[in-house]
Order: sequence, then C-alpha cells, then structure tokens
Amino acid sequence: PSMAQGEAKSSVLSNKPNPKSPSRFSMRQKITEHRKSLPIASVEKRLIEEVQKNDILIIVGETGSGKTTQLPQFLFNAGFCREGKMVGISQPRRIAAMTVAKRVAEECDVPLGQKVGYSVRFDDTTSSSTRLKYMTDGFLLREALVDPLLSRYSVIIVDEAHERTVHTDVLLALLKKVQRDRSKAVNERSSETGGGVLRGCQGRKVSPLKLIIMSASLDARVFSEYYGGAKALHVQGRQFPVNVLYTVHPETDYVDAALVTIFQIHMEEKEGDILVFLTGQDEIESVERLVQERLQHLPEDKRMLLPMTIFAGLPSEQQMRVFAPAPIGFRKVVLATNIAETSITIPGIRYVVDTGVVKARTYDPNKGMESLDVVPTSKAQALQRSGRAGREGPGKCFRLYPEREFEKLEDSTKPEIKRCNLSNVILQLKSLGIDDIGGFDFIDKPSRGAIVKALEELRLLGALTDDGKLEKPVGEQMARLPMDPVYSRALILANQFNCLEEMLITVAMLNVESIFYDPREKREEARTSRNHFTSVEGDHLTYLSVYRELNEFLEKRKEENSEAKVDKIMRKWCKDNFVNSRSLKHARDTYRQIRGYVEQMGFNVSSCGNDMLEYRRCLAASFFLKAAQRQMDGTYRALESGEIVHIHPISGLFRSKPECVVFNELMQTTKKYIKNLTRIDPLWLAELAPHHYKTEE
Ligand code: ADP
Ligand code: MG
Repeated sequence: PSMAQGEAKSSVLSNKPNPKSPSRFSMRQKITEHRKSLPIASVEKRLIEEVQKNDILIIVGETGSGKTTQLPQFLFNAGFCREGKMVGISQPRRIAAMTVAKRVAEECDVPLGQKVGYSVRFDDTTSSSTRLKYMTDGFLLREALVDPLLSRYSVIIVDEAHERTVHTDVLLALLKKVQRDRSKAVNERSSETGGGVLRGCQGRKVSPLKLIIMSASLDARVFSEYYGGAKALHVQGRQFPVNVLYTVHPETDYVDAALVTIFQIHMEEKEGDILVFLTGQDEIESVERLVQERLQHLPEDKRMLLPMTIFAGLPSEQQMRVFAPAPIGFRKVVLATNIAETSITIPGIRYVVDTGVVKARTYDPNKGMESLDVVPTSKAQALQRSGRAGREGPGKCFRLYPEREFEKLEDSTKPEIKRCNLSNVILQLKSLGIDDIGGFDFIDKPSRGAIVKALEELRLLGALTDDGKLEKPVGEQMARLPMDPVYSRALILANQFNCLEEMLITVAMLNVESIFYDPREKREEARTSRNHFTSVEGDHLTYLSVYRELNEFLEKRKEENSEAKVDKIMRKWCKDNFVNSRSLKHARDTYRQIRGYVEQMGFNVSSCGNDMLEYRRCLAASFFLKAAQRQMDGTYRALESGEIVHIHPISGLFRSKPECVVFNELMQTTKKYIKNLTRIDPLWLAELAPHHYKTEE
C-alpha cells in the first residue's frame, strides 16, 4: 500500500514507529530526495525573493518541474502564512486540486485537511488550520462572493493559466481588481492611522495581496502584458528526447487503434509505463475493460499489464492509485483524460498514446446552443502530451493520426470564454456588483452576441430584471448555488412544486457522466436490466428510479452492516444491475452536498413521492429553454434555436418519440443529438413559462 492510504494514521505513527513498517522512514527519505531533485528546488531562494519584490509574478515552467506542489510549500516556509493567512492555489480541474493537495499533505507529513487541504465544488476538506489551500478556479470565484477582498489570503496562485478556462479568465480579471482594492484599503487605512492594516471581511486584517500566475505554456507574454508588464520567470525543466511516431493512414476508430497500440507497446517495447489520452469516463472505462479482456488471451507470462484510470468523476479514494508505482514486473497503463496533459504528473511514464482528440465545449451564441463535442487537439496540446513521455528518460509518443494531420491542427486552443455559454459567470459578476459586463477587463473579451444571449437567458430564468440588475431574492439565491443557473433555478422551482427531493437527485445524477454501463460480453443482460429502470416518460425519471432503488436497497441492509460495508454492498448492487458504481457514488456525494446548500438557504426538502406528473411539470418549468418538438419526419426541432436535432439512441425515449420533450444536453457526433430528456405536454410551456411561450391564437 502506498503512503496515500496511510495518511490518516501518520500522526500516530510518527510518535511510535511501527516496527512492522520500516518502509515509512525510507518513504519519508524518498520524498525528501524527490523534492530536492525537482528542477524548482534549486531556485527556491530566488523565487521567494522575486515574490517579495513583485506584487504580480508570472511563473512558467515545464510540466513536472514542481511548480504546483513545491511553490506553496516554499511560500509557507518563507512566512507567507503567518497570522493565520493562507496561500490559495487555484486549479482548472477539481481532480487536480484534490490529488495535488493529497500529495502535498503527504510531502508535509500531515493529514489532509489540516495544514494542507482542498476545496472543490461538493467537497471541502479544509479546516481553520488550513494554510495551503488547493481549490478549483470556480471555487475561488465563489469565495469572492462572500469575501470580496479575499482577505484570508496573503498569496493567490492561479495555476494552469495556459488552460484559459472561463473561470480562470474571470479570476484573472477579478484578482486584478481585488489586488487594487486591497492596496487601496491598506493605503487609506495607513494614511488615517499610520497602521497599515484594515479590518476586512469578518474583521480580518487586510494587507496587500500577492498574485502569482503559473503556466506550462512557455509564452508568458499574454499574461505579462495583461498585468501591465509584470515580471515573468522561467523555471528550467528537465526534458529527455521523445521519439514521435505517426500512423500511416487516418484511423477510423481511435479507441480500437489505441488498444492495438497499447498491446503493441506492451509486447515489443522495453519497460516503462504507458499513458493513454482519451476523451471521457465512458471511453476510459470501456478501454479499461477491453484491456482486461484482451489480456486473458495473452500467454500467462505476458499478462503483467495493469490498467488504471484517472478522470473527473473518479471517486476520491481511487484517485491516488495512478501515482503508485506498478508492482515489480508489471507495466502500468494509465487511461486518462486531458487532465494528464499538464495538471498532474504521473511518475514512470515512458510511452504516450495520443488519440489526437479531446472533449471540448463549443457554443453557438446565435442559436444559444452549447454542446460538448469530441474535437481534435491543438498543436500545443499534442506537444504537451508527447512531452509526458520524456520526463524521466527518453520516451516514445504514438500519435494515432498521420503526420500531415498534425500540420493542420490549430496552434493553440481557443480560450473557453470564447466558446461557452456565459450565463454562469455573468450571474456571478452581477452578484459581485459588476454590472457593465461588456466593459469588464477580460484578457480576451467574449463576443458581444454571447453576452447579450447570456443576459437574455438570465432574464428568462428570473435571475435578472428587465434592465439587467440582479433580481431579488431569486437571482441572489441562484448565484449562491454552485451550479449552472438552469439547475439552480430548477431547485428553486422544485421547492415550489414540492419535489425538491426529486430535483436534488436529478441534478446530482445529471452531474455524473455515465449511469449505466454495458459490458460487451453481457450486452443482452445489461439491456434487460436497464429496461427494468427505464421510464417511457423520461430519462430523468429513469435516473430517479435507479437512485431510489439503490437507496432502498441500502436502507434495508443498514442495520446488519457497518458503514464500511455499505460501499461493498453498493458496488455489488451496481454490478448486478449494470449500473456504474463510480458514478453512483459520485452522485450520492453530490446529492448530500447540494442538499446541504439548499437547506442552508432555508429550503425544506419535500418529496412528491410517486406523483411524477408534478415532477415532470417542474422539469418543464425549469428547462423550458431546452424544449424540442417532433416534426413530421420524426426528427425534432429545438424550439429556442430552430435547430434540427435527434434523440440519442441511449435515451429511453428513442423509440417512443413523444411529441414534445425538454432536454439537458446537446451533443454533436455524426448528427446533433439530444440526451437526458423527458416527455412534456406542449401546453405546459405556455402555462409554466408564459413570459417566453405564448399560446397560439
Ligand atoms: P508542475 O506543477 O511543475 O507540473 P508538480 O508540482 O505537479 O509539477 O509535480 C512535481 C513532481 O512531483 C512531478 O514530477 C511528479 O513526479 C511528482 N508528483 C506529483 N504528484 C505526485 C503524486 N501524487 N505521487 C507521486 N509523485 C507525484
Ligand atoms: Mg502544475
């Protein structure tokens, strides 16, 4: 077992060494040596001096050089956490925030949640003693809603800034303002009293804020210019040559090509772990199963290949597994999303398999349609991916496309703010008192059309008044809930429709990627099992019954079993019912968290029991902006955008094709598909969203 699993016990063990685990001490030594060997270690003193000298600093460095794990520790040691102050580190991805925090806690030899902790949506491990706080960029943004001066932080590090997620972009702008406001507050105060400190939120002392922007892209210019010529530092990385190989012809099925390549490497190449870039949980889990399956066909002595996964929805206790070295004689094959591009570094990788694709958001403001599509990576992403093979020695990268395709890729990925629905961030900016969205100092301005569309959507959802001000109390409540405005709105409405319990489950279930799984060898069985849950009224109802049945099952066995066994029972139930247990676990955690939020807001969680009519009416009232009506030819027309869409075959309504539906997701593959839908009565739209749908005379 690795240290990660033993972290809770570490404080006990350090007083009384356990003679049976001498590894503990060699482990500490290993960690110390590893830390010393990182490229960033040799520049600790210099970095601290620069932070002391500059209020804004840009740090760029090769992935794996130690920026994320080490710099916060350097700052702690240099006294930046005195007087209860914190160093905050924002990450674009929740799973990066979580795994890195765990690693740093381990390096500091403290239990997670004490000196080192993480806060991500639906999961907060920090305590009053936390000094190094890893969090998502979205989480930090929300903190600004409660504490506009972010007064608990002495330093804020915006990590992975090159990713340019929409939250990072908003944060970059907001922190500029916070830094100005804090300096102003300090100056005013010192001119009054000569004191230099001011009480901020909850009477905390206010001091100037240090801002550090970290990026793996070697071009620091954009950030430096944005911050008025801020100083940029380069941390030299360690990079061995990587031999990049391409396929001769384009691959029609990149998943299959990835599988073939994995086994080719396993059979023909020298030792070293493999990292495979895929697009999402579904794909990763299916490759995981296929690898297991094919291994069975290999001669016994060739079966030493160990598939491991890392993706956003992976339950917390499984996340650290990818970091543990493979048992002697085994080769690890890590199946990852683009999280492994720059956000986390997995030791031991010598081979990279790059499918050349990534799941990305795209948005068409004219149609108001956001979708999650599988698209080619940019050149920059491809380079980052291949770089992962050369961290510890010379490596190989297998790009599953021909070389001429590489030349056609975009240089870098377009910032997300230019390709997403803005209603979420605009609602947050509005509740921060920033009203002039068009005039806000973004590093890259979103298009005028996208802003107008988002304002309109927020108005239709009841979050903004006609003149664009925050509507009270609905808009405020919506801003406080950490989710897309549509879902916040759905919860508020459900409270009125007396089906809040059901909507909490719905939102939690929609938050996970795949609820069912269907193993190839048991297709029929899986289908029959799924039919048992499937509702012809809607996928939302289907998810509801999966969740409820599992609940009832666990409830019944509650007395006979300890808490520890619940997990096992749950996994068994899920397996028997062809339900994805990782996803269900994630959904159950999410449910608990959202329930906490709405209860804090004073809502009483009531249930409509089996009155699914009321629940469906509530879905219609909530998701009226995404309604679609069947056409003569059996396709659907999205009422808001006029777009022609198709029901995804995975939906329980694929065959019945009801006249009118509301849906949550649009995705483009060969066609434009809608997913997660429920049948509604078209008349409800006019009744429940009269401000948007008029009855035809
Ligand atoms: P950067 O932020 O510059 O990309 P990191 O600070 O994330 O670098 O990682 C520094 C080094 O720490 C990496 O080379 C990696 O090998 C190691 N590392 C990071 N997380 C873990 C972990 N959970 N387990 C083992 N090693 C880790
Ligand atoms: Mg990093």
